[in-house]
Amino acid sequence: MSQKKYALVTGGSRGIGRAICVKMAELGYNVIINYKGNKDAALETARLVQEKGVEAEIMGFDIANRTEVKQILGSWVETYKDVVIEVLVNNAGIRQDVLLPMMSDEQWDSVIDTSLQGMYNVTKQVLTPMVMNRFGRIINIVSLSGIKGMPGQVNYSAAKAGMIGATKAMAQEIARRNITVNAIAPGFIKTDMTEELNEKELANMIPMKRFGTAEEVAELVGFLASKQSSYITGQVISINGGLYT
Ligand code: NAP
Repeated sequence: MSQKKYALVTGGSRGIGRAICVKMAELGYNVIINYKGNKDAALETARLVQEKGVEAEIMGFDIANRTEVKQILGSWVETYKDVVIEVLVNNAGIRQDVLLPMMSDEQWDSVIDTSLQGMYNVTKQVLTPMVMNRFGRIINIVSLSGIKGMPGQVNYSAAKAGMIGATKAMAQEIARRNITVNAIAPGFIKTDMTEELNEKELANMIPMKRFGTAEEVAELVGFLASKQSSYITGQVISINGGLYT
């Protein structure tokens, strides 16, 4: 019997992550939908995934909590040895925007711990089986903010820039194993994360004069996850409606 193939999407309960889960299902992957606290939203993503005729599994853990990631994801990987996680999308992330003098230690730590440490915590659990599988796709969702730096987002820019460095280094470490590692840097995308922003005003500085959609980002993730993207690795691909980065 052939091995069951899975895609794991962190922060798959809402926003960009949910659209990515659906895209992975369209590519034929069974999908592990990670979430932090919003189980109902994760179940709704699972329903959308199942509609595509593949299996969905919701998996609640805080990616910033290394012990929890090891316990929940690590033991799942250990238990289901017949399963290969071929695609890992490190998508979960948070913002805590404030100018640096006013930033609390908690605001600095939580943003770094979620994006940067979270990427490390999760990737560590799935990388060895992926290397043994000799095929894989790792896609890290970063941000325009991590490329150009954004005032009021020193914590977030640092976290995303750190992910970009890790993407480039990891890509070179495992290129020979047929595993590609790329980052996607969205600009402004319509999700809960950008809900309180003044879209009308901000859209003026975007050449396309609008925010992007989660589905548009998911299309790019879908391409990078596909076999067709086989010679692209270590790259940061922007998706931002033409915003100069
Ligand atoms: P969102 O709508 O706020 O959704 C965030 C998702 O991440 C939720 O599924 C949430 O789970 C999950 N999450 C947050 N912290 C987590 C943790 N510690 N452990 C596990 N899951 C966690 O965000 P989004 O706009 O879709 O953003 C997705 C990614 O794109 C983020 O990395 C973000 O930085 C990046 N990005 C977004 C934009 C944008 O304009 N929206 C632009 C550039 C980059 P729960 O539902 O359980 O809370």
